[in-house]
Amino acid sequence: METNLFSPVALPYAQDALAPAISAQTIAFHYGKHLQAYINNLNAALPGSGFEGKSIEEIVISAEGGIFNNAGQVLNHTLYFTQFKPAGAESAPEGALAEAIKRDFGSFEAFKAEFQKKGAGLFGSGWVWLAADKEGRLQITQETNAGNPLRRGLKPLLTFDVWEHAYYLDYQNRRPDHLASLWQIVDWSVVAARYEAE
Ligand code: MN
Repeated sequence: METNLFSPVALPYAQDALAPAISAQTIAFHYGKHLQAYINNLNAALPGSGFEGKSIEEIVISAEGGIFNNAGQVLNHTLYFTQFKPAGAESAPEGALAEAIKRDFGSFEAFKAEFQKKGAGLFGSGWVWLAADKEGRLQITQETNAGNPLRRGLKPLLTFDVWEHAYYLDYQNRRPDHLASLWQIVDWSVVAARYEAE
C-alpha cells in the first residue's frame, strides 16, 4: 500500500503575529523544529506499520507506542497552531458553543479559570483540552505527553500545550502566566466551527 506522508499544517498568521503570548522565536522552534520532528518520526515509522493510508485521527485513536506518541503530537500541534489569531482584542465564543460553555461551566470567565487551573496543575508535559461528548456536553481534560481526548471518545475543540518547549523561551518557569496570555490569541470562530462540525 502506498504510504501517506504527513506534512506541517500551514500557519494562518505570520510567525510574529502571536507575540507577546507566543514569540516569533518560539514559533520558529515549536512549529519549525518540534512539530517537524514529530512529522518526520511519524512518516519514517509508517511503512510496514499497518497504519499506511490511515488518517491522523484514525492513527491517534488506535496506535500505541512510538507511532501513537508521534501521531498524537502531530494532531495535537495541528489543532493547536490553527486555533490562534493575531494578538489583539480578546474574542469570546458565540452561538451554540457560548451557550454550552455557560450551561456546563456557569460562565465564560468560570470556564477560563478552570481551564487555566487544570493547565497549570498538569504535572510534567502534556495538554489541557476543551472537549465535547457525543451529546455536545463540554468537559476539560488533562492529557499527559501526546494524549488527545479522541482516546476517550471525545471531540477535541481547544488545547493549550503545557510542554515546556511551548513557553520556556518567553515565560521560563511561569507556565500560569503563559496560559493566561493565550486567551488574547484564541480564535473562537475556529473553536466554534469544531464544536458544530459533525
Ligand atoms: Mn508542543
